Amino acid sequence: MDDVDLAQEREEAHLTASLSARKPRLVSRNGNCIWCTDEPIVANTAFCSAECGEDFHKHQREMQQRITAE
Ligand SMILES: [Zn+2]
Repeated sequence: MDDVDLAQEREEAHLTASLSARKPRLVSRNGNCIWCTDEPIVANTAFCSAECGEDFHKHQREMQQRITAE
């Protein structure tokens, strides 16, 4: 492995770290949507649909606002 490969690898690690820091990866424990909980998830997501993902994130934002408002 030369210096270029090493730098590239470091860059990728950094990118992955910053991406995951911004958006924590949600995972379903039982294979069902973590929002409605009764539909199976779409591969590589934690939701059965985009709508559930949006509702979940909207809820998260509202919760966050409620916490900071207090
Ligand atoms: Zn759902």
